[in-house]
Amino acid sequence: MPDGGFTPEEINTSIAHPARIYDYYLGGKDNYEVDRAAADRILQLFPYARAWSLSNRGFLERAVRAVTRQGVRQIIDIGTGIPTSPNTHEVARTVDNDVRVVYVDNDPIVATYADVKLTNEGNAGFALADLREPEAVFESPAVRNLIDLDEPVALMMVAILHFISDEEDVAGIVSTLTRRLPKGSCLALSHVSSDFEANSSGDLLGAAKVYDTATARLNLRGREEILSFFDGFELLEPGLVQAPLWRPEEPVPSEEELRQYVGYVGVGVKS
Ligand code: SAH
Repeated sequence: MPDGGFTPEEINTSIAHPARIYDYYLGGKDNYEVDRAAADRILQLFPYARAWSLSNRGFLERAVRAVTRQGVRQIIDIGTGIPTSPNTHEVARTVDNDVRVVYVDNDPIVATYADVKLTNEGNAGFALADLREPEAVFESPAVRNLIDLDEPVALMMVAILHFISDEEDVAGIVSTLTRRLPKGSCLALSHVSSDFEANSSGDLLGAAKVYDTATARLNLRGREEILSFFDGFELLEPGLVQAPLWRPEEPVPSEEELRQYVGYVGVGVKS
């Protein structure tokens, strides 16, 4: 049983959860009626939500390979999501088998799967913790046992910061976390953005509002604000871009299609 000790019976299936909506987009099976209804409503308003999710996951994989190829041997992956193949530790270990990974999520369903799908191969841990309490992340047994804060760490916050509002002090949360990391550490993140709203063919703002009925609201932010999360970090090439443009390994979508990838991704190295 993971940190939180949740059983499937304790999982709330009456309100949509971002992790399960995302799981549905990725073709997973760990979602409920209420999540599928919210996800379908979002797809009606913004049909590219699924393509965005898939390209976001592709970015996560390329980012994990990039940071481990840089020599980083420990990863904290906050906003893990419901396990999906390949998970962060599996990607990292295609580069180096000794990479240690701590997964952090506040969703009990993620906690329920952690020990069978995320931490079973060893050298990996899970913390049921909330990003809005960043100190709790560092104090969790998983981070204390597996992460050496004197050595470079890759902090992943992929598709999670948009679930934290300005009132909850998203900027303060990010700097509380990054401040603790030594030089040479990496920050990888992706974030949905309103910058593309005017050009995209769907109703992005309407789709974002569907999250008002879920456990976490969606906060769309502009490029400058997202860029400021990298304060103290130097962005790796190609900088802060749409997911399909970050070190693509597949043909890049047409300009027309690209407008629908309504967010930014980037990886920085702490200087
Ligand atoms: N990083 C993965 C999954 C993104 S889905 C990927 O990009 O593929 C977003 C995840 O963030 C969900 O699992 C959700 O449960 C988690 N999450 C949202 N708000 C959170 C919070 N305040 N604290 C911890 N996890 C949170």
